Amino acid sequence: MARIFTDKDADLDILKDKVIGVIGYGNQGRSQALNLRDNGMNVIIGNIKDSAWDLAVSDGFTVKGIGETAKESDVILLLIPDEVAPKVMEDEILPYLSSGKVLDFASGYNITYGFIKPPEGVDVVLVAPRMIGKGVRDLFLQNRGFPVLVGVEQDASGKAWDYALAISKGIGAFLPGGCAVESSFYEETLVDLFSEHSWAGAMLYLLQACYEVLVEEGVSPEVAILELYASGELGEIGHAIAQFGLWDQLRLHSHTSQYGHMTWGKRYITEETKNLMREAIEEIKDGRFAREWGLEQLMGLPSFHRLWKMRLSHPICREEDKLYKILGRR
Ligand code: NDP
Repeated sequence: MARIFTDKDADLDILKDKVIGVIGYGNQGRSQALNLRDNGMNVIIGNIKDSAWDLAVSDGFTVKGIGETAKESDVILLLIPDEVAPKVMEDEILPYLSSGKVLDFASGYNITYGFIKPPEGVDVVLVAPRMIGKGVRDLFLQNRGFPVLVGVEQDASGKAWDYALAISKGIGAFLPGGCAVESSFYEETLVDLFSEHSWAGAMLYLLQACYEVLVEEGVSPEVAILELYASGELGEIGHAIAQFGLWDQLRLHSHTSQYGHMTWGKRYITEETKNLMREAIEEIKDGRFAREWGLEQLMGLPSFHRLWKMRLSHPICREEDKLYKILGRR
Protein backbone atom coordinates (compact mmCIF):
# COMPACT_ATOMS: atom_id res chain seq x y z
CA MET A 1 0.00 0.00 0.00
CA ALA A 2 1.24 3.51 -0.81
CA ARG A 3 2.21 5.68 2.15
CA ILE A 4 -0.17 8.58 2.71
CA PHE A 5 1.36 11.72 4.20
CA THR A 6 -0.53 14.40 6.08
CA ASP A 7 0.30 17.68 7.81
CA LYS A 8 2.09 16.03 10.73
CA ASP A 9 4.64 14.47 8.33
CA ALA A 10 5.89 17.78 6.93
CA ASP A 11 7.97 20.59 8.39
CA LEU A 12 8.23 23.97 6.67
CA ASP A 13 11.42 24.78 8.63
CA ILE A 14 13.54 23.09 5.95
CA LEU A 15 12.40 25.79 3.47
CA LYS A 16 12.52 28.76 5.85
CA ASP A 17 15.99 30.08 5.01
CA LYS A 18 15.82 29.11 1.36
CA VAL A 19 15.07 31.16 -1.73
CA ILE A 20 12.31 29.41 -3.64
CA GLY A 21 12.36 30.19 -7.36
CA VAL A 22 9.10 29.49 -9.15
CA ILE A 23 9.88 29.20 -12.87
CA GLY A 24 6.71 29.89 -14.88
CA TYR A 25 3.87 32.07 -13.57
CA GLY A 26 0.98 30.21 -15.26
CA ASN A 27 -1.75 27.83 -14.06
CA GLN A 28 0.30 26.06 -11.40
CA GLY A 29 3.09 28.62 -10.97
CA ARG A 30 0.92 31.51 -9.85
CA SER A 31 -1.14 29.44 -7.42
CA GLN A 32 1.82 27.63 -5.90
CA ALA A 33 3.83 30.84 -5.59
CA LEU A 34 1.00 32.74 -3.86
CA ASN A 35 0.29 29.86 -1.46
CA LEU A 36 3.99 29.46 -0.58
CA ARG A 37 4.31 33.20 0.05
CA ASP A 38 1.18 33.24 2.21
CA ASN A 39 2.82 30.43 4.21
CA GLY A 40 5.79 32.70 4.94
CA MET A 41 8.22 31.42 2.29
CA ASN A 42 10.69 33.60 0.39
CA VAL A 43 9.50 33.25 -3.22
CA ILE A 44 10.88 34.85 -6.38
CA ILE A 45 9.50 34.37 -9.89
CA GLY A 46 11.38 33.52 -13.08
CA ASN A 47 9.47 34.05 -16.32
CA ILE A 48 9.76 35.13 -19.93
CA LYS A 49 8.86 38.79 -20.48
CA ASP A 50 5.14 38.47 -21.20
CA SER A 51 1.76 39.13 -19.57
CA ALA A 52 2.51 36.50 -16.87
CA TRP A 53 5.60 38.54 -15.91
CA ASP A 54 3.43 41.66 -15.53
CA LEU A 55 0.88 39.71 -13.48
CA ALA A 56 3.60 38.46 -11.12
CA VAL A 57 4.85 42.03 -10.67
CA SER A 58 1.33 43.27 -9.96
CA ASP A 59 0.94 40.42 -7.43
CA GLY A 60 3.93 41.94 -5.62
CA PHE A 61 6.65 39.43 -6.50
CA THR A 62 10.25 40.06 -7.45
CA VAL A 63 10.38 38.85 -11.06
CA LYS A 64 13.54 38.09 -13.01
CA GLY A 65 14.64 36.18 -16.08
CA ILE A 66 14.62 32.40 -15.80
CA GLY A 67 18.43 32.03 -15.68
CA GLU A 68 18.85 34.69 -13.04
CA THR A 69 16.10 33.15 -10.91
CA ALA A 70 17.68 29.69 -11.20
CA LYS A 71 21.02 31.20 -10.15
CA GLU A 72 19.59 32.90 -7.06
CA SER A 73 17.32 30.07 -5.90
CA ASP A 74 18.04 27.17 -3.57
CA VAL A 75 14.79 25.39 -4.42
CA ILE A 76 13.55 25.57 -8.02
CA LEU A 77 9.93 24.76 -8.91
CA LEU A 78 9.85 24.09 -12.65
CA LEU A 79 6.29 25.03 -13.60
CA ILE A 80 6.42 25.67 -17.34
CA PRO A 81 4.72 23.52 -20.01
CA ASP A 82 6.30 20.07 -20.32
CA GLU A 83 6.94 20.57 -24.07
CA VAL A 84 9.22 23.57 -23.56
CA ALA A 85 10.85 22.51 -20.28
CA PRO A 86 13.78 20.46 -21.74
CA LYS A 87 15.11 23.37 -23.84
CA VAL A 88 14.59 25.97 -21.10
CA MET A 89 16.31 23.61 -18.70
CA GLU A 90 19.27 23.05 -21.01
CA ASP A 91 19.75 26.71 -21.97
CA GLU A 92 18.89 28.61 -18.81
CA ILE A 93 18.71 26.44 -15.70
CA LEU A 94 21.35 23.71 -15.98
CA PRO A 95 24.27 26.19 -15.87
CA TYR A 96 23.11 27.26 -12.39
CA LEU A 97 22.01 23.89 -11.03
CA SER A 98 24.83 23.44 -8.56
CA SER A 99 25.09 20.70 -5.93
CA GLY A 100 22.85 21.16 -2.91
CA LYS A 101 19.97 22.69 -4.86
CA VAL A 102 16.50 21.16 -5.05
CA LEU A 103 14.67 20.76 -8.36
CA ASP A 104 10.92 20.22 -8.09
CA PHE A 105 8.53 19.10 -10.86
CA ALA A 106 4.71 19.02 -11.01
CA SER A 107 4.77 16.32 -13.68
CA GLY A 108 6.87 13.18 -14.10
CA TYR A 109 6.99 13.30 -17.92
CA ASN A 110 10.40 14.80 -18.72
CA ILE A 111 12.31 12.82 -16.10
CA THR A 112 10.55 9.54 -16.96
CA TYR A 113 11.46 9.78 -20.64
CA GLY A 114 14.95 11.18 -19.99
CA PHE A 115 14.24 14.49 -21.76
CA ILE A 116 15.68 16.25 -18.69
CA LYS A 117 18.74 14.81 -16.98
CA PRO A 118 19.57 16.78 -13.81
CA PRO A 119 23.16 16.67 -12.56
CA GLU A 120 24.20 14.49 -9.63
CA GLY A 121 24.31 16.43 -6.38
CA VAL A 122 20.86 17.92 -6.91
CA ASP A 123 17.73 16.65 -5.15
CA VAL A 124 15.04 15.88 -7.74
CA VAL A 125 11.52 15.74 -6.31
CA LEU A 126 7.98 15.48 -7.59
CA VAL A 127 5.00 17.31 -6.11
CA ALA A 128 2.21 16.77 -8.62
CA PRO A 129 -1.14 18.27 -7.61
CA ARG A 130 -4.20 16.27 -8.63
CA MET A 131 -5.85 19.64 -9.06
CA ILE A 132 -5.91 22.37 -11.70
CA GLY A 133 -3.89 25.47 -10.87
CA LYS A 134 -6.97 27.57 -10.16
CA GLY A 135 -8.17 24.95 -7.66
CA VAL A 136 -4.80 25.00 -5.87
CA ARG A 137 -5.33 28.69 -5.04
CA ASP A 138 -9.11 28.69 -4.59
CA LEU A 139 -9.02 25.77 -2.13
CA PHE A 140 -6.14 27.38 -0.20
CA LEU A 141 -8.22 30.54 0.25
CA GLN A 142 -11.04 28.37 1.61
CA ASN A 143 -8.60 26.65 4.02
CA ARG A 144 -9.01 23.35 2.15
CA GLY A 145 -6.34 20.98 0.88
CA PHE A 146 -6.05 18.78 -2.22
CA PRO A 147 -4.25 15.55 -3.11
CA VAL A 148 -0.71 15.55 -4.51
CA LEU A 149 1.45 12.68 -5.73
CA VAL A 150 4.96 12.91 -4.29
CA GLY A 151 8.12 11.15 -5.38
CA VAL A 152 11.89 11.37 -5.24
CA GLU A 153 14.07 10.62 -8.25
CA GLN A 154 17.39 11.71 -6.79
CA ASP A 155 18.18 12.11 -3.11
CA ALA A 156 21.60 13.78 -3.05
CA SER A 157 21.18 15.51 0.30
CA GLY A 158 19.45 12.63 2.08
CA LYS A 159 16.59 15.08 2.74
CA ALA A 160 14.76 14.94 -0.60
CA TRP A 161 11.60 13.46 0.93
CA ASP A 162 11.59 16.20 3.58
CA TYR A 163 11.79 18.78 0.80
CA ALA A 164 8.99 17.11 -1.21
CA LEU A 165 6.71 17.05 1.83
CA ALA A 166 7.59 20.63 2.86
CA ILE A 167 6.78 21.87 -0.66
CA SER A 168 3.49 19.93 -0.51
CA LYS A 169 2.68 21.64 2.78
CA GLY A 170 3.82 25.03 1.52
CA ILE A 171 1.53 24.94 -1.50
CA GLY A 172 -1.42 24.01 0.74
CA ALA A 173 -1.89 20.32 0.02
CA PHE A 174 -2.14 19.38 3.71
CA LEU A 175 -4.96 21.72 4.65
CA PRO A 176 -8.13 19.82 5.69
CA GLY A 177 -9.24 17.34 3.02
CA GLY A 178 -5.83 17.04 1.36
CA CYS A 179 -2.88 14.65 1.53
CA ALA A 180 0.25 13.51 -0.31
CA VAL A 181 0.40 10.00 -1.71
CA GLU A 182 3.77 8.29 -2.15
CA SER A 183 4.40 7.76 -5.85
CA SER A 184 7.22 8.19 -8.37
CA PHE A 185 7.98 10.12 -11.56
CA TYR A 186 7.28 6.95 -13.57
CA GLU A 187 3.98 6.14 -11.84
CA GLU A 188 2.73 9.73 -12.12
CA THR A 189 3.50 9.76 -15.84
CA LEU A 190 1.83 6.39 -16.35
CA VAL A 191 -1.44 7.24 -14.58
CA ASP A 192 -1.61 10.75 -16.01
CA LEU A 193 -1.13 9.68 -19.65
CA PHE A 194 -3.27 6.56 -19.17
CA SER A 195 -6.23 8.64 -17.96
CA GLU A 196 -5.91 10.97 -20.94
CA HIS A 197 -5.59 8.09 -23.41
CA SER A 198 -8.39 5.96 -21.95
CA TRP A 199 -11.49 7.16 -20.12
CA ALA A 200 -10.99 10.92 -20.52
CA GLY A 201 -10.40 10.86 -24.27
CA ALA A 202 -12.94 8.08 -24.82
CA MET A 203 -15.60 10.02 -22.91
CA LEU A 204 -15.46 12.91 -25.38
CA TYR A 205 -15.78 10.58 -28.38
CA LEU A 206 -18.51 8.60 -26.58
CA LEU A 207 -20.59 11.74 -25.91
CA GLN A 208 -20.17 12.79 -29.53
CA ALA A 209 -21.25 9.33 -30.74
CA CYS A 210 -24.29 9.47 -28.40
CA TYR A 211 -25.17 12.85 -29.93
CA GLU A 212 -24.95 11.42 -33.47
CA VAL A 213 -27.22 8.48 -32.61
CA LEU A 214 -29.80 10.63 -30.79
CA VAL A 215 -30.00 13.17 -33.64
CA GLU A 216 -30.23 10.30 -36.15
CA GLU A 217 -33.25 9.16 -34.11
CA GLY A 218 -34.91 12.59 -34.52
CA VAL A 219 -34.01 14.12 -31.16
CA SER A 220 -33.30 17.85 -31.53
CA PRO A 221 -29.63 18.88 -31.19
CA GLU A 222 -30.58 21.18 -28.28
CA VAL A 223 -32.22 18.40 -26.28
CA ALA A 224 -29.36 15.99 -27.06
CA ILE A 225 -26.63 18.46 -26.03
CA LEU A 226 -28.45 19.46 -22.83
CA GLU A 227 -29.10 15.83 -21.93
CA LEU A 228 -25.54 14.71 -22.60
CA TYR A 229 -23.49 17.46 -20.94
CA ALA A 230 -24.68 21.07 -21.23
CA SER A 231 -27.06 20.87 -18.27
CA GLY A 232 -24.11 20.43 -15.90
CA GLU A 233 -25.49 17.11 -14.57
CA LEU A 234 -22.34 15.38 -15.80
CA GLY A 235 -20.27 17.68 -13.60
CA GLU A 236 -22.58 17.01 -10.63
CA ILE A 237 -22.13 13.25 -11.12
CA GLY A 238 -18.34 13.70 -11.29
CA HIS A 239 -18.48 15.65 -8.05
CA ALA A 240 -20.67 12.99 -6.41
CA ILE A 241 -18.25 10.24 -7.49
CA ALA A 242 -15.39 12.12 -5.80
CA GLN A 243 -17.54 12.74 -2.73
CA PHE A 244 -19.41 9.44 -2.20
CA GLY A 245 -17.61 6.87 -4.37
CA LEU A 246 -17.90 5.42 -7.87
CA TRP A 247 -20.96 3.22 -7.26
CA ASP A 248 -22.31 4.69 -4.02
CA GLN A 249 -23.15 7.96 -5.82
CA LEU A 250 -25.72 5.96 -7.81
CA ARG A 251 -27.95 6.03 -4.72
CA LEU A 252 -28.62 9.70 -5.57
CA HIS A 253 -30.34 8.56 -8.79
CA SER A 254 -33.83 7.06 -9.20
CA HIS A 255 -34.21 3.27 -9.00
CA THR A 256 -34.92 3.17 -12.75
CA SER A 257 -31.69 5.02 -13.38
CA GLN A 258 -29.71 2.80 -10.99
CA TYR A 259 -30.96 -0.36 -12.68
CA GLY A 260 -30.24 1.04 -16.16
CA HIS A 261 -26.71 2.08 -15.24
CA MET A 262 -25.84 -1.30 -13.72
CA THR A 263 -27.31 -3.46 -16.49
CA TRP A 264 -27.40 -1.76 -19.90
CA GLY A 265 -24.29 0.38 -19.28
CA LYS A 266 -22.09 -2.65 -18.76
CA ARG A 267 -22.24 -3.93 -22.35
CA TYR A 268 -19.80 -1.30 -23.64
CA ILE A 269 -16.96 -2.59 -21.48
CA THR A 270 -15.80 -5.88 -22.93
CA GLU A 271 -12.52 -7.78 -22.76
CA GLU A 272 -11.67 -6.02 -26.03
CA THR A 273 -12.03 -2.63 -24.30
CA LYS A 274 -9.69 -3.77 -21.55
CA ASN A 275 -7.20 -5.05 -24.14
CA LEU A 276 -7.21 -1.57 -25.72
CA MET A 277 -6.38 -0.16 -22.29
CA ARG A 278 -3.52 -2.64 -21.89
CA GLU A 279 -2.23 -1.57 -25.29
CA ALA A 280 -2.39 2.09 -24.23
CA ILE A 281 -0.29 1.18 -21.18
CA GLU A 282 2.32 -0.51 -23.39
CA GLU A 283 2.49 2.55 -25.66
CA ILE A 284 3.17 4.73 -22.62
CA LYS A 285 5.69 2.32 -21.07
CA ASP A 286 7.80 1.74 -24.19
CA GLY A 287 7.78 5.47 -25.04
CA ARG A 288 5.79 5.15 -28.29
CA PHE A 289 3.41 7.94 -27.31
CA ALA A 290 6.22 10.23 -26.08
CA ARG A 291 8.21 9.67 -29.31
CA GLU A 292 5.16 10.35 -31.51
CA TRP A 293 4.31 13.54 -29.56
CA GLY A 294 7.95 14.70 -29.63
CA LEU A 295 8.12 14.18 -33.40
CA GLU A 296 4.83 16.01 -33.86
CA GLN A 297 6.25 19.02 -32.00
CA LEU A 298 9.47 18.94 -34.04
CA MET A 299 7.44 19.02 -37.27
CA GLY A 300 5.47 22.07 -36.11
CA LEU A 301 2.30 20.30 -34.88
CA PRO A 302 0.66 19.44 -38.27
CA SER A 303 -1.51 16.58 -36.92
CA PHE A 304 -2.36 18.52 -33.78
CA HIS A 305 -3.79 21.42 -35.84
CA ARG A 306 -5.52 19.03 -38.27
CA LEU A 307 -7.16 17.17 -35.38
CA TRP A 308 -8.42 20.42 -33.87
CA LYS A 309 -9.87 21.46 -37.24
CA MET A 310 -11.60 18.09 -37.67
CA ARG A 311 -13.03 18.06 -34.16
CA LEU A 312 -14.37 21.63 -34.43
CA SER A 313 -15.99 20.94 -37.81
CA HIS A 314 -18.36 18.37 -36.25
CA PRO A 315 -22.03 19.51 -36.27
CA ILE A 316 -22.16 19.19 -32.47
CA CYS A 317 -19.88 22.27 -32.21
CA ARG A 318 -22.09 24.36 -34.49
CA GLU A 319 -25.25 23.40 -32.59
CA GLU A 320 -23.50 23.86 -29.26
CA ASP A 321 -22.43 27.35 -30.31
CA LYS A 322 -26.03 28.36 -31.10
CA LEU A 323 -27.33 26.90 -27.84
CA TYR A 324 -24.56 28.37 -25.70
CA LYS A 325 -25.21 31.84 -27.16
CA ILE A 326 -28.87 31.58 -26.06
CA LEU A 327 -27.74 30.36 -22.64
CA GLY A 328 -25.35 33.33 -22.37
CA ARG A 329 -22.24 31.16 -22.27
CA ARG A 330 -20.68 32.67 -25.41
P1 NDP B 1 1.25 26.98 -18.26
O1 NDP B 1 0.81 26.55 -19.62
O2 NDP B 1 0.26 27.72 -17.43
O3 NDP B 1 2.58 27.81 -18.45
C1 NDP B 1 3.33 28.24 -17.33
C2 NDP B 1 4.24 29.39 -17.67
O4 NDP B 1 5.25 28.99 -18.57
C3 NDP B 1 3.51 30.58 -18.30
O5 NDP B 1 3.90 31.73 -17.62
C4 NDP B 1 4.04 30.52 -19.71
O6 NDP B 1 4.06 31.78 -20.33
C5 NDP B 1 5.43 30.00 -19.53
N1 NDP B 1 6.04 29.57 -20.79
C6 NDP B 1 5.41 29.13 -21.92
N2 NDP B 1 6.31 28.84 -22.88
C7 NDP B 1 7.52 29.13 -22.36
C8 NDP B 1 8.84 29.06 -22.86
N3 NDP B 1 9.10 28.63 -24.11
N4 NDP B 1 9.85 29.43 -22.07
C9 NDP B 1 9.62 29.84 -20.81
N5 NDP B 1 8.39 29.94 -20.26
C10 NDP B 1 7.35 29.57 -21.03
O7 NDP B 1 1.76 25.69 -17.45
P2 NDP B 1 0.98 24.83 -16.35
O8 NDP B 1 0.97 25.58 -15.07
O9 NDP B 1 -0.31 24.32 -16.90
O10 NDP B 1 1.95 23.56 -16.21
C11 NDP B 1 3.15 23.65 -15.45
C12 NDP B 1 3.51 22.27 -14.95
O11 NDP B 1 2.50 21.82 -14.05
C13 NDP B 1 3.61 21.22 -16.05
O12 NDP B 1 4.65 20.33 -15.70
C14 NDP B 1 2.27 20.51 -15.97
O13 NDP B 1 2.32 19.18 -16.46
C15 NDP B 1 2.04 20.54 -14.47
N6 NDP B 1 0.64 20.41 -14.03
C16 NDP B 1 -0.30 21.26 -14.55
C17 NDP B 1 -1.60 21.20 -14.10
C18 NDP B 1 -2.62 22.22 -14.55
O14 NDP B 1 -3.59 22.41 -13.85
N7 NDP B 1 -2.44 22.91 -15.68
C19 NDP B 1 -2.05 20.18 -13.13
C20 NDP B 1 -0.97 19.41 -12.57
C21 NDP B 1 0.33 19.52 -13.05
P3 NDP B 1 2.80 32.22 -21.25
O15 NDP B 1 1.67 32.47 -20.30
O16 NDP B 1 3.30 33.45 -21.92
O17 NDP B 1 2.53 31.09 -22.21
